Amino acid sequence: VPEDNCYDALIVDVDGVVWRDGEPIPENVEALRRLIREGARIVFLTNNSTKSRRLYAEKLSQAINARISVDSIVNSGYSAAAWLARTRGPTRVLPIGEEGLIDELVGAGHTPLTSHDWPLAEAVVVGLDRNLSYRKLAAAHKAILRGALFVATNQDNAYPVPGGTEPGAGSLVALLSTSTGRRPDFDAGKPGEWILRLALEAAGSPRRPLIVGDRLDTDIEMARRAGVPGLLVRTGVHRDAGPGPGYTVVDNLLVALEEGLVRACGRG
Ligand SMILES: [Mg+2]
Repeated sequence: VPEDNCYDALIVDVDGVVWRDGEPIPENVEALRRLIREGARIVFLTNNSTKSRRLYAEKLSQAINARISVDSIVNSGYSAAAWLARTRGPTRVLPIGEEGLIDELVGAGHTPLTSHDWPLAEAVVVGLDRNLSYRKLAAAHKAILRGALFVATNQDNAYPVPGGTEPGAGSLVALLSTSTGRRPDFDAGKPGEWILRLALEAAGSPRRPLIVGDRLDTDIEMARRAGVPGLLVRTGVHRDAGPGPGYTVVDNLLVALEEGLVRACGRG
């Protein structure tokens, strides 16, 4: 942690930080608004691939009551699409995922295929799909066995919903790993290094970034691997977490501001 606690960019998780169960978390939202006013660059980083970045920009702008641009959002669908675009170029993709994933694939120049066209797939990209059918799984299974690249948007086994959890993208990846006997060729999500690289690029390659999140196993683990300072807010999944090497724990982001643990600093 820099001695004067000043950061020129914050990489901020969304679920459990900006909102929880669809409701904005007031203290965190107020703190984000203050930081934006003070000139901090904020990039939102989420493993959720079901919504497009465009939709995230709209929802975040509403929740925070500030203008949040599409360029300041990185989700795991965008991350997977960007990885394919940069390493392979335009690709024929069989997606397991919702509209948000398909939007990001198209936006990056790829061609999404229907289950029927699985023999044409050069890659299978697996995200959370709450309309999943056996037919779609079978198509993905066959495409992977035929040699298509196997790309995970993320490997979260479960994600929080009101009253508990539901199976996440990682559980669908595990199903296809079991059926095909193949591990994913690439994981585009947190806590991996690739998605953080995209977020840091979106933040303008900051000199003093801070990663803010509610989960030790994704947000803080990603910070640890990259050697970037982390701030765990106790507003989401890990509410009983204590501090550890490389990261600080606070009840919420507003407390961090008021205690002088985090402030915005200019570049240069
Ligand atoms: Mg979270």
